[in-house]
Order: sequence, then C-alpha cells, then structure tokens
Amino acid sequence: MKDLSACATRSTCPYCGVGCGVLLQPDGAGGLTVTGDPDHPANQGRLCSKGSALAETVGLSQRLLAPLVAGKETGWDHALQLVADRFRETIAEHGPDSVAFYVSGQLLTEDYYVANKLMKGFIGSANIDTNSRLCMASTVAGHKRAFGTDTVPGTYEDLDEADLVVLVGSNLAWCHPVLYQRLMAARQARGTKIIVVDPRRTASCDSADLHLPLAAGSDVALFNHLLSQIDTAGLVDVDSLTHTTGIHEALDSALADDVSVTRLNPDDIAQFCQMWMGTEKVVTIFSQGVNQSSSGSDKVNAILNCHLATGRIGKPGCGPLSVTGQPNAMGGREVGGLANMLACHLDIENADHRAAVRDFWSAPAMPEAPGLKAVDLFRAVGDGRVKALWVIHTNPVVSMPEADAVRDAIAACPFTVVSDITARTDTARLADVLLPAAAWAEKDGTVTNSDRTISRQRSVLPAPGQAREDWDILAEVGRRMGWVSAFDYQTPGEIFREYATLSGIAAKFGRDFDISGLSDLDAVGYDALQPTRWPVTATRQGGRFFADGQFYHPDGKARLLPVTWRAPAAKTEPRYPFWLNTGRLRDQWHTMTRTGMSARLSAHLPEPFLDIHPDDAHVTGINPADLVQVASPHGTSILRARITSDVTQGQVFAPIHWTGETAPSARIDAVVAAATDPVSGQPESKASVVNVTRFNAEWYGFAVSDREMQPSCEYWAKTPTKTGYRAELAGMGTINDWQTTARDLFGLPEAQTTIVEDPARGMARLAFHEHGQLVAALFISPEPVAVMRDYLATLPQVPDLLSGRAPADRPDPGPVLCSCFDVGVNTILTAIETKGLMSVEAIGEALQAGTNCGSCRPELASLLASAHQKEAAQ
Ligand code: SF4
Repeated sequence: MKDLSACATRSTCPYCGVGCGVLLQPDGAGGLTVTGDPDHPANQGRLCSKGSALAETVGLSQRLLAPLVAGKETGWDHALQLVADRFRETIAEHGPDSVAFYVSGQLLTEDYYVANKLMKGFIGSANIDTNSRLCMASTVAGHKRAFGTDTVPGTYEDLDEADLVVLVGSNLAWCHPVLYQRLMAARQARGTKIIVVDPRRTASCDSADLHLPLAAGSDVALFNHLLSQIDTAGLVDVDSLTHTTGIHEALDSALADDVSVTRLNPDDIAQFCQMWMGTEKVVTIFSQGVNQSSSGSDKVNAILNCHLATGRIGKPGCGPLSVTGQPNAMGGREVGGLANMLACHLDIENADHRAAVRDFWSAPAMPEAPGLKAVDLFRAVGDGRVKALWVIHTNPVVSMPEADAVRDAIAACPFTVVSDITARTDTARLADVLLPAAAWAEKDGTVTNSDRTISRQRSVLPAPGQAREDWDILAEVGRRMGWVSAFDYQTPGEIFREYATLSGIAAKFGRDFDISGLSDLDAVGYDALQPTRWPVTATRQGGRFFADGQFYHPDGKARLLPVTWRAPAAKTEPRYPFWLNTGRLRDQWHTMTRTGMSARLSAHLPEPFLDIHPDDAHVTGINPADLVQVASPHGTSILRARITSDVTQGQVFAPIHWTGETAPSARIDAVVAAATDPVSGQPESKASVVNVTRFNAEWYGFAVSDREMQPSCEYWAKTPTKTGYRAELAGMGTINDWQTTARDLFGLPEAQTTIVEDPARGMARLAFHEHGQLVAALFISPEPVAVMRDYLATLPQVPDLLSGRAPADRPDPGPVLCSCFDVGVNTILTAIETKGLMSVEAIGEALQAGTNCGSCRPELASLLASAHQKEAAQ
C-alpha cells in the first residue's frame, strides 16, 4: 500500500453506501482538494461526480455557527441545559415514550452508538429511528427472516467475478456510480451480462442486455415465477437445501402466483429466467425500488428464495447484494439505529439480549418492545404522544412521505431540537433549539459501506464557530440528564472500543456482527485503522458469509419464505389515474444541503421535473416544458413536464431533492402516501397514486443574478451558477410593474435598469446594471420562456443579453452533461455531428467528457445513439 499520509489524509466520501475512500488535502484557507483513494478497496481511486465535487461543498456561507434558541444565538451551556431539562421534564411527566430521536445514515457509527445508548439504555424508550428506515428497512427485515440476522452475504468483489448481474429496482449508474463503473469494467473484461428490472428506463439500462419494465410493485410475482421455473427445470440444489427449511411452502406460493401481473412481455420473462437459470455466477443487486414498497420485505425474500434454492450464495461471483443509499446506513443497522433493534444485531424483544446489553451498559432502563418506526413516529408527534423530538442530520419535512403532515406535526410539537450543519433546511426552520454540528470533513469516526467494510472518516478541517461533533453533543446531554459516567466519552475511539467489546458479547448469542478483534485498538491504532470488512475476530476477518452453510436461526438453517404478490397499497381511480414513482438524480444528494452548493453539480438538471409518457401527455394536454400540477389525497407539487418514453404509460416519475429552500412548491414527498410495509415499516415511496394536470400559470419567468434571489410567486426553483443564481418562475395574476417586482426579486432597489416591454403580448425583458456591470436579468413571457438558459447563466459575460440568445461566436453549451469537465449537451451534439464521433471514447477524446469519474458515460451513450438515430432517419 502506498503511503500518502505525508501529504493527504485518508477518509470516506459522505454520500452513498458504496463508501469510496478519498484523499483529503486542506489548502490552508478553509478549502480542500479531494481525490479518490487508490488504495481503498471500494473504489480503487475512482470517484463519481458527487464525490469529485466534495471540495465545492465545504464553504461556510450556509453554515450554522452557534446554537440558536428560539431563533436567537446563545452558548452551548444554555442550549444543552435546556435540551436536557426539557427532555427530563417531559419524561418525568409523560413517561419515556413521550420523547423521540429521529437520526440519520449520515451519522458516524460512534454518533449512532451514543444516541442509541442514550435512548434505549438510559431514557428507557426505543423511540429512536433513522432515516435509513426510508432506505433499506425492508432489506433488514428480509435478511432477518431468511438468514436469522441482518447479514449481507457477498462483497463488491463478487461483481468482478459474476457472469450475470441483475439490477432490481436499482439505478446503479446514477445512485451508486462507482459500483456501476466497476460492473462496466467487469463487463468489458469478461462480458458480464446485465439485466435491469425496473418500471422505468434509467441510465443503467443503457448497457443492459435486457430491461424488464415491470408493473409497479410486481417484483414478487416475477421472482416467484423464476423460483417455479427453477423447480420445473430441476435446478433446485438438493445439497444447498439441507441448509434451509421452507422450500415446499415457498414453492407452493410461487406456483400459485401469476406472473402476468408484471405486465411484461412473456418472451422477455422467459429470457430472464433462462439467463438466470443458465448462469451459475449470478449477483442480484437490489436497492430502493425493492425496499420502498408496501411489500418490500416480501420482495427481498422472493429474491433470496431464488438464491437459496439454487445455492447461489456464499460463493465467489454469486449472491444477493443490497446496496444502501447512505454512507453509514449499514453502520446504523449494525449499531441498533433502527427502533426495532439493539446494538450489534441483538434483538430488542429477546430478554437475554436485552439483559446482556443492560448489564454491559449498566443501564437503568431498557425498553422491552420496539419503538416507533419513522412513519408512526411522526404520526405520534402529530397526535401529541411524542412531546419532545430531537432530529439529527436529516430533513423529514422534505423527505418523509405525506411531508406536509410531518411539517405540521413538527411545527406543533411542544419541543423540537435539530442538530445540523446549516439553519437553511425546512426542518431546521421549525426547531426550538438548533444545534451547530460539525460537517463531514471536520468529524472523526467510522462508517460501514454496503459490503460490510468499515472505514475511517477523518477530520481534516477545524469545526467552524461553535460547531461540535454529534457524539460529543449527545454525550453531554446524557451527562446533563444525570448519567455522568455512562457518557463520559472523550474521543470517538473510546466509543468505538466499547462498541467493539459489546459486539463480542453479542457474538456469544450467535450473532454475525462481531468486531471484537478491534476492541483493544488504542488511540494510534484507531487513528490508523485501514478499511476492514467485518467480522473481525481473533480467528476471522471479512470474507463472505454462508459459504459453510451455517445461518443464524437457532437451527443454523436459512428460511425460504412463502411470499405472494400484493398490489401496492394505493389504487388508481379516475381521480388519481397515474402511478407516481420517485427517485434520485445523478448529481444531487438527498435534500441538496451539500450538493446544492455546487454550481457544477446543480447544472446537470437544474429544475424539478415530472417525467410523463408521450401518450399520457397527449391525453392530458401537456406540452414539453409546461408546468404540471401533481396532486394526491395528501398534497400537491408543481413540476416541469418532461415528455419521455423512459416511463411507461400510466406511470410518472419525479426526483426527491427539491425543498422549501430551493423550490417550495416542488416538494414531491408532500404528494407521496405514507403507506408502509407491514413487516419493515418502510414507506412505499415508489407507488403513490396521483393526478397530473397542466398548471396554467398566467406568466412565466427566467432570472439570472450575481446574488441569491428571493422569489415569491406560485412556482419558483432556484439554482446556484458559477457567478450567482438562476431561477425559473411562474405565477398567477397580472403584474403591471415588472421593474418593481424584479427589484424586489434581486434586492436591487437602486440599480440602473434597461427594459424592453411588449405589454400587449405580456412580454418583458429587464437587465440591471451596477457600477457599469451587468448584475441581473429577468425574462417574462405568457408561455414558458424560450431563452438560452445555460448561456445566460454565464452572466455577466453575456453580450446582447436581452435577446436571450447566444451570439454565433459563443454557442449555447446547453445543460451540463459532464460535470467534471463542464461539457454541455449542445456542445456534445455539435461535436458528434461535425466530427463524426461514433463512440463514447471518441467523445472523450474530442471533449474530455466522460473521461474522469465516468458518471455521465451512460448519458453520453444514450445521446450518441439518439443523434445517430436522428441522422439515419434524415
Ligand atoms: Fe461518494 Fe460517488 Fe463513491 Fe457514492 S459512488 S461513495 S457518492 S464517490
């Protein structure tokens, strides 16, 4: 291993569950250089567009630098004493279940450990749940039912050795790009076949041999059909079955299911089964499309049944692999961050497990039953059962289903504490006490990625202002609540050692999660800890699970579960005829509190949108670039229409990222129903029913400015640019004085104005200058504004601004497709046409696009294919 420690610090990317290693070099002025760690096993030096832009997110412009109580700056002593007092008083008056923590997969394992210990061991409630409930709780439930514990059997290396990789409900190309690039490398090297099972055509389909656009929520029927075909073909592995129970019941259910509910072409189904059954080395990767469902746990078990029945598990190049959304979703699962688990994969409902943890912690009070899972937790806040709430590093006002009801519940909660790095989130704005937390580059601790690799996150920047690490804040509240010795932590290393020791106790109960081999790490050892896949014991480190046929149910056997297809909880009806699917974009993360600071990342898809099929758009009278209103029984959202056959008829898709800060009328989770999986409690975020209608704005606007704008119309969406901000606007009612409106929007009461107006046609174009410099512009039209946005976003370098068009010698680059080299769609299309480019590699050679992180390569391939198709049709 190369020793780069002299010039860079090894740490971990804080975004997705791939868990890429990064090398961080502070520049001495508060900034950083971030590069991929070539020695980290998860990424071997690669980073995706988000990881590559990490350095652009460490600025302090939006940071919370001091505790706020009732919106007023205060010191830690006052803020934390208030938190401790209010929690203690609430518990004394209403009992321990009247308080709750809602935490996050952004927390480091050490933070999680202290939060969990405080709530479950000392407050005496299990009301701590994590936003990972929205991400992979169904996988946890499925693993526990099949294996007896929440074990991820395989590793990333299996992707290098597999002959067939099936992506189920996973847009790996956008959501786990470095893993996707690894898969592409394997495909190049050994011809790995790829099947994508997803209702939507995503970027991951571009390299797939087969795409199965199944009906929403019908995955169980597809995998039950596969299991029945495995049986019919005599491919059930008799030796493997000796390590399992339940094959007959599982087969009975599978045979009784009807694959036609998938609405897939029978030939495609047959091809899928043949490819799966005809390939020994199959990895099935699954993610949110499986988990975020009212039958998510059953979907997981339907997949696991096929692997268990054929022995395709625990061997190189084989097995199910769940990929997690968040950087430490796995760490949260291991440390007991979910309301229904104890630390180290121990069960809260098992009296022996509880007693072991209670003794280890010398805990005064342990709950005997699971606490409230996320959806129920916020319902309890809403109906007054929970009276004191602490939200840590997450934004439920945006990310929870039925988000308006969650917003109202938090607003009405008698006492809400929020820990975050910024005050500019929809949830932070509702806090009674707002605590400034340290950000990822300022924190020390560990995270676990999707293949069980524990990596260090290391602090390289000083925490600004009064910001503190989360374990430190939580421990001090624990001490102020009276549990001084239990929370007397001085370093995250101490917490990690305690956790590792507890895992050794858990292992005595036959649990899989055992890192007791790290329990005697001293400070130097903890600091130097290299990426390490668990388990880590005196006799074992890492590797795959289940190669020996040993599982974690009391009889040592795995369970095949009888599962039956169930339709999504909602039903379409004439008032709500569309299925709404939600998901992530390539260059954004969660509610954009970090990625939204990068102009480069924001340029990829700068506005919230709804994908709708051309036939549905035709029937509903929706034209390209129209605004549409998406309505459900729970709320409404206004989005820009994109008409595309990437979605099937009857299905619409919207991304999850926009918030009250960036596009207040586009919070899509306000529309999503809070139906949950009965086993896992995970919400069904991919199958709500909605109506879609044209939003008939009376005027539309596009604005650019060298400063942040403050829009106040019915629809707006703002995005940073390299030189300021751009915004889409739309509103109702007649505005007679655009100059005053624009001055308010830009905060430019005195600037010199140039106006070109055509009141009869409802059109206006305004430019604002200060000190001879162009500082802002607004374009108004009664129809969606047709101007060259990406050219105008380069303000002030825009000659002939008010024409809205780029001059011939400065062509409009179009929306950014390659974030790394800032290459726009128009630039790429022109190069394809004028230079006769025939491959993604040729585009890379001509423009550099796609030659760094590779995240845009699927889109480049797609653009190339459509350009060539167009050419052929001419
Ligand atoms: Fe970060 Fe991208 Fe790696 Fe995920 S794939 S950990 S977002 S660099």
